[in-house]
Amino acid sequence: MTTLALKYRPRVLADLVGQDASVKALNNALLRAKASGAIHHQAFLFAGVRGTGKTSTARILARALNCAEGPTPAPCGVCDACVTSEQPDRNLDIVEIDAASRASVEDARALREQVHTRPAFCRYRVYIIDEVHMLSRQAFDALLKILEEPPPHAVFVLATTEIQDVPDTIKSRVQIFPFRLIPVGLIEARLQHVCDSEGVSAEPGSLRLVAEAGQGSMRDALTTLDRVISAGDGQILESLVREQLGIVPAIRIKGTLESLLAGDSTAILDHCAALGSQGVDWTSFWKELAIAFRDHLESVARSGTQPHEILRLSRILSLLLQRERDLRDSSLPQVVVELALITAAQLPHLAPLDALVKGVPSSPAPQSSAMATPRYQPAQEKTQFSAPTQRQLPPSATVKSAAADAGHAGAGTKAAAPAPISPLNAPLRASEELIQQEPLLGRLLEDTSGEIIEIRKSRQGS
Ligand SMILES: [Zn+2]
Repeated sequence: MTTLALKYRPRVLADLVGQDASVKALNNALLRAKASGAIHHQAFLFAGVRGTGKTSTARILARALNCAEGPTPAPCGVCDACVTSEQPDRNLDIVEIDAASRASVEDARALREQVHTRPAFCRYRVYIIDEVHMLSRQAFDALLKILEEPPPHAVFVLATTEIQDVPDTIKSRVQIFPFRLIPVGLIEARLQHVCDSEGVSAEPGSLRLVAEAGQGSMRDALTTLDRVISAGDGQILESLVREQLGIVPAIRIKGTLESLLAGDSTAILDHCAALGSQGVDWTSFWKELAIAFRDHLESVARSGTQPHEILRLSRILSLLLQRERDLRDSSLPQVVVELALITAAQLPHLAPLDALVKGVPSSPAPQSSAMATPRYQPAQEKTQFSAPTQRQLPPSATVKSAAADAGHAGAGTKAAAPAPISPLNAPLRASEELIQQEPLLGRLLEDTSGEIIEIRKSRQGS
């Protein structure tokens, strides 16, 4: 562990961040123990991903049970038991066992004999078995025998990152406490507290990046904080954090996002070229861009903007997410990024689907009384969208076969008048022309809006 991770390791239950349910349950168990003078349950299983406080909580429990004023949820912090609870080599009554290296039957047998020894100077001898899922089957059997009839002075805390690998027989003998990934906001707040205590100034936003890099682990976040403080000579600058963590400069994310929204392919290519020359990790860039785009989409959705804009943004985001796997598999990630972004940038030029359905063209439309058409479409126009036989056409259906099908169905005949003037047709025609001029857009439509393709085929059929 690094200096900060050790220094700010939780020492009382109140220090534990993001584990409210487990903290509350342990607190209650210790309150009951305080009232009765003895802990009711003698075996606990702490389960959760690494760095979420399992081993620290095991030590906190040992301290709470053995404090001279205990058992208590609020140990004094000054008695011998409290002081030595952080140093297992000075406290014979805290036995930490790494199951990964002591998984054999002999180890388990040795433990069976050892547990009957009375504590050296504390109330309880606390056995902390880390990564307990690594025990062999025979070792689990031996452990089960111990847990079935534990001596009154022994308390067991089993910790695991893989609870599914712990036998049910063991699980049925222990109280299980889940340890969850810590939300990034809580990690950030804790990092701010650490910086304040250490007299380190941090630029706004920089601690958020450090917290995110922790991926739910406080220990990893504190380790990263140590690194960026060292690199920044005692102050934390966002640019330095990004450099240290290999995070794409914020200005590039913002610039690419703006170019994408503006449909500016030249600017998009410029950003990609600059990122490529900096040796960016394209997968990280893609992830950050998708998150930034998602945030933009949320702000638009919450502002009550017209639905077709929300739909357009959703399609772009959908495209970004679809291309993520291509990016991971490609030996030319920059090309994948450029192609996907340029393709997505063209979406603003397409007619929004809701305009097609409502009959409101996105570009100046021919004068027509149908402009006043309410949300519900006249029957003969609706048939263009709803003839069931046309909807079932395979993607490769030709105009000819679609027309033949439509002839059998008979549903599209009313709408098959020569060149009908309708606001429905204007944006549709505009989309088709674009598709013919630009094959990339046709591909994009297939990718992101099956509905429009379907409408196009229907129209060909009629
Ligand atoms: Zn104490």
